[in-house]
Formats: sequence, structure tokens, C-alpha cells
Amino acid sequence: MEQTDRMDCREGRDIRAGKKRFSKNAALENASWESGVRKVTPYTPGEQPRRAGIIKLNTNECPYPPSPQVKRLAAEFETDILRLYPDPEASLLVKSIAEHFGVGEDQVFVGVGSDDVLAMAFLTFFNTDKPILFPDITYSFYDVWAQLFGIPYSRPALDEDFRLVKEDYLVPNGGIVIANPNAPTGICEPMTVIEEIIAKNPGSIVIIDEAYVDFGGMSAIPLVEKYDNLLVVQTFSKSRAMAGMRIGFAVGSPKAIRYLRDVKFSFNSYTMDAPTIAWGAASMADDAYFRETVEKVAGTREYLKKELSSLGFSFPDSRTNFVFASHEKVPAEEIFLALKEAGIYVRYFPGERTGNHLRITVGTKEQTDALLAFLRNYLK
Ligand code: PMP
Repeated sequence: MEQTDRMDCREGRDIRAGKKRFSKNAALENASWESGVRKVTPYTPGEQPRRAGIIKLNTNECPYPPSPQVKRLAAEFETDILRLYPDPEASLLVKSIAEHFGVGEDQVFVGVGSDDVLAMAFLTFFNTDKPILFPDITYSFYDVWAQLFGIPYSRPALDEDFRLVKEDYLVPNGGIVIANPNAPTGICEPMTVIEEIIAKNPGSIVIIDEAYVDFGGMSAIPLVEKYDNLLVVQTFSKSRAMAGMRIGFAVGSPKAIRYLRDVKFSFNSYTMDAPTIAWGAASMADDAYFRETVEKVAGTREYLKKELSSLGFSFPDSRTNFVFASHEKVPAEEIFLALKEAGIYVRYFPGERTGNHLRITVGTKEQTDALLAFLRNYLK
């Protein structure tokens, strides 16, 4: 009896194990590897047309070349710069940025474009169940990173003039991201508003994305000495005319920068290549050229605003190298397509609140005149 029981038991176990094995196999056969894929809707970058002879005013690049110091270094290019691994700390570049802003080298983090810096910052600092906050109309990569990293987020609406509603950022949150000046609106919020949001959120990292600040905005970098929850992100892609090199950086408290570096070095040590490090440092050191370039762009922007107004366009007051304009009569999409047909590329963002605007990058005076000449004729 005892024997039989044991047998039954054993058999039972065997049968159950066999069944389990069978159902496991069935589950294996029915499973699709796709159910385990991290699915995301990727960011759609602006078009990079290869057509010759076009006027490219669609991705906010600088119409002027980078500092002549970059060209000089490029001419002295030695192949060892490619043969050897680059400095993982990008020390030369970090030092030039720290010197420029009068902060410690331990307060600077560099990355492959500010997209890389922002993505690292999302991954590092936004790690709670509380939603992070950024406006409904802003740089559309923020949603993508939040989705990619599984970060809950909420997008308080800008008001009807596309201004930030400060109170929306004085609620419990897992972090805050504000582009200042904002994109695609071009609006710069006063530093008093930015500081209040940082000061009243000591429990969250506040990222201020200053991709366009050099064209007339005000930087929050001086506030990093006062608030260790502030991270200011800038780029070489716009005012330093080096979008093709991919350099971005963050300035923050030594503690915040340490956390960012820990995540970055857990991911890939050698993200920034050696020519980029050397040429970026040369660009940062050439302040006179930098100032001359941004002044030229800002001057053309003011001219563009004046002429667009006289053609029946209205727009928020841009402090950037682009204007977010809508026409009193003609739908934005129609103008966008007509411009494209004529080889003039601007950016159009379909959507309920943005769909009647064109984001026009400030080009050279000649490019701007060509754009205006087309519009004058088209809108007649
Ligand atoms: N932030 C904002 C607001 C931007 O518009 C852009 C440019 N698309 C970036 C960041 C990223 O720029 P980059 O990666 O070239 O530094």
C-alpha cells in the first residue's frame, strides 16, 4: 500500500511534470518574440533633403560656418586621432565649457548632441512613479524618451498665447523639463518664473533645455550655484554651427553631474569621438566669432519678423533662430507645400494647436530675402 501510494505519488508527480512540460512547450510554440519587444513610436526628425540648390530653413541650423579655428584644426588632422581611443572624459572639451561659463569641470557633462545629454538625463533622474512634467507644445523628443524609458509623464497645456502656466509646475511631480526659449514657439519665459519653478521643486530635478538661448534668451546657468536640483542643457548645433559634429552639454551641481556620468559610463564610455572633442573645444574658445555669428542671426531674425508682419503673418516674439508664424488668411500647410515645391524648406507641425503655423529658421540675409520674395509673390 505504502509502495503503491508512493508509486501513485511518483506517477502523479511525473504526470503533472509531463503535463507542465507539454504546456510549456505549447506556450513556447505559440509565443511571439514580438510580444517582448520594447515598442516605441520614434521621434520624427526634420527632413534632411539632399536636393541641390534648396534653401534649407527647416531644422534651425546656423547659416554661417563654424569658427575658423575648427577649420584650422581640421586641416591639421593627424590619423592618430582616429587610431587611438578618444578620451572617455572628453576633458579638453569639458574644460573649455567650464572655463567659458566660469563653473567647475565637475559641473559639466558632455554628450553626442543635446539629444544624447537629455536622453541620459531622463534615464538618470526620472525614476519614480510620479509623472514628469513638460508642456503640451514643446520639443517632441521629450515624449519619446519618456515612453522609451517607461517614465510616466503629463503635459500641462500652454495658455492660448503659448505661454507657460507656472502653477502647473508647482504640483507633486517626478521631474520637470522646460525648453527656454521654447521650441517651436520661440518664446522665452522670464528667469523669475524659471527660478520659482526650480526653487519650489527641491524634490525634483528641473531640466532647462537651452538649445536656443544664445540668440537672445537668458540662461539659467548662474542658478546652478544656488540650486543642486537644476540641470541646464545646451548645444553646439545652433549658435556654434556644428550640428553635424553632435555636441551637447549639461551644466549642474557636482552631485547631479556625478549621477549623470555614472549612468553614461554604465552605458558606453566612448560616445564622443576624438575630432569632435578637439574641434568642439576650439569652437568654445573662440568667443569673438561666436558673438559675431549670433548677432548676425539675431539681426536677420528681427528683419524677418518685420517683413513677415507686413505680409500678414503673426507670431510669438521669438528669442531664437526661428520664427513660429501663422498667416491671417492662407493655411500654413498650403504655404509649407508651396515653399517646398519652390525648393524652400521650412518646418510644419500638423496638430490641433500647431497646425496653422510654420517654423521658419533664420537663414542668411540672402536666404531670407529669397523666402520673402517667394511669399510676397505667392500671397499677392
Ligand atoms: N532641444 C531642443 C529644444 C531642440 O530643438 C533640439 C534640436 N532638434 C535639441 C534639443 C537637440 O539638438 P542637438 O541634439 O542637435 O543638440
